[in-house]
Amino acid sequence: MSRKIAFVGLGIMGKPMAVNLVKAGHHVTGFDLSRASIDTVVAAGGHGAASIADAVRDAEVVITMVPADPHVEAVMLGEDGVLAHVRPGTLVVDMSSITPQTSVKVAKAAAEKGVRTLDAPVSGGEAGAIEAVLSIMVGGEAADFAEAKPLFDALGTTVVHVGPSGAGQTVKAANQLIVAVNIQVLAEAVVFLENAGVDLKAALDVLGGGLAGSTVLERKKANMLNREFAPGFRIDLHHKDMGIVTDAARAVGAALPVGAVVAQLVASARANGDGSLDHSALLRGVERLSGR
Ligand code: NAD
Repeated sequence: MSRKIAFVGLGIMGKPMAVNLVKAGHHVTGFDLSRASIDTVVAAGGHGAASIADAVRDAEVVITMVPADPHVEAVMLGEDGVLAHVRPGTLVVDMSSITPQTSVKVAKAAAEKGVRTLDAPVSGGEAGAIEAVLSIMVGGEAADFAEAKPLFDALGTTVVHVGPSGAGQTVKAANQLIVAVNIQVLAEAVVFLENAGVDLKAALDVLGGGLAGSTVLERKKANMLNREFAPGFRIDLHHKDMGIVTDAARAVGAALPVGAVVAQLVASARANGDGSLDHSALLRGVERLSGR
């Protein structure tokens, strides 16, 4: 069934996701602060809007994909935001990675207006968004999840309802903990191997076939081999996510000793000017610590 979708936030992730919804036969109206991003969606067969109000007014489903909590609050709760202009009954799906608390706050504000919400953050990176193979972790009501499922299926291959409002964000926080720690230790292995004079490509090929193999190794080894750090997923965003997971873990009394150290290393990468690089640039921090 073709749905009328408003898509707000057409960045590295949102743009290919909106295009995939167009390809799946939906009527997609895109809005972003960048006109060029809107033009890409229009060129793919979608429609452009001049404002959030313009995008969401007639929508059956609204999807948002913006950087962080302040952007979600502005886009959803702002004077000219989504909740001010959607029709009651609309399903609003935030796919950004933010704190579970903000997801719950937005859900409550929406419910007061008769608007339904899901938090549906994703994993899989830009490549996963382009290829429509994202992993999508969804919090909210089961009936709303069932309604949105065909849309999620146009964006990803692993789509799971994980609990009530905010639960999607909690699972995403755990995802970001696992990914950051993996990238950090991969970077440490790379510097170790290079310092020891081993052929790095050969080493990573054989490591990838054993228990050390992982999606992180497969997806990030080219970045590390070629020192190619165009994002991808920016260190600034991963810094935001490490803040989310350390705060959320403290709130529930869970210890994250290794995660806390890696959060510091992500912060250090940022402090050293690497915030706009891909998170595989954690390698540069290990190089600095190794005196390179
Ligand atoms: P991005 O910075 O490339 O894109 C965000 C977009 O939101 C930008 O185009 C920006 O102009 C737009 N935006 C911000 N405020 C807006 C507003 N008020 N109205 C309209 N548009 C607005 O970021 P991204 O990499 O696409 O990430 C988006 C979200 O997805 C983040 O929460 C991130 O943590 C998460 N995420 C990213 C990746 C990745 O690999 N890049 C993977 C999984 C999840």
